[in-house]
Amino acid sequence: MAFLEIDGLYKSFGQTDVLKGIDLAVEEGDFLVLVGPSGCGKSTLLNTIAGLESVTKGEIRIAGERVNELKPSERDIAMVFQSYALYPNMSVAKNLAFGLEMRGVPKEERDRAIQEVAEMLQIEKLLNRRPGQLSGGQRQRVAMGRALVRKPQVFLFDEPLSNLDAKLRVDMRMEIKRLHASLGTTIVYVTHDQIEAMTLASTIAILKDGILQQFGSPDEVYNNPSNLFVADFMGSPA
Ligand code: ADP
Ligand code: MG
Repeated sequence: MAFLEIDGLYKSFGQTDVLKGIDLAVEEGDFLVLVGPSGCGKSTLLNTIAGLESVTKGEIRIAGERVNELKPSERDIAMVFQSYALYPNMSVAKNLAFGLEMRGVPKEERDRAIQEVAEMLQIEKLLNRRPGQLSGGQRQRVAMGRALVRKPQVFLFDEPLSNLDAKLRVDMRMEIKRLHASLGTTIVYVTHDQIEAMTLASTIAILKDGILQQFGSPDEVYNNPSNLFVADFMGSPA
């Protein structure tokens, strides 16, 4: 049994069918990178896993448990978005603590978790600042920290680095790789950057028009693309 299982998932918005029968199995500790062109349904898929969108048909299971009917806060999942979505009027420390506070985690435990995550992401010196006083890279670190403090079983990333400049993107990529190696959490990571996908993924899934085209190791997908679309998208050798 895989840790995160998606069976026959359909999602429609009115008459528009966006996800058309997705089957996906992500092993515990796997780093799955989901790629595909703009509008193919990547964010919609993450949103259904997180519970931010309902499911039209199909089932999502985490650790064997059906989560379709659970609210986002009842799922052991944290999501990091492209826009940082930090609370502008709260300090970094407050931003980090907010989710824990909502869950009724006692202050002592919150402070300990914040300290731990701040060290991990090297943002200890920023704890008293407001988001407006941070650079883009620092904000993205705080956004990651906010997801990390809860120690979720599953991490969802929706193009987290696409607002950063090229140099920072490479640095943060290595940081995320390091975090995954040390924490061993299960990650589903969306990007449209093929190099990012090849660098980070233990498994790659390629989505086109709401249908999965291929699912496999970076090596398989790159060297053995299952169709022309995948070959073209991954820039496989002819
Ligand atoms: P991606 O993240 O791959 O760029 P999305 O999942 O954001 O793609 O969008 C897939 C399709 O679903 C797009 O055609 C988009 O317009 C449509 N869509 C996404 N969210 C909604 C919504 N809330 N209502 C209507 N259509 C939506
Ligand atoms: Mg998207």
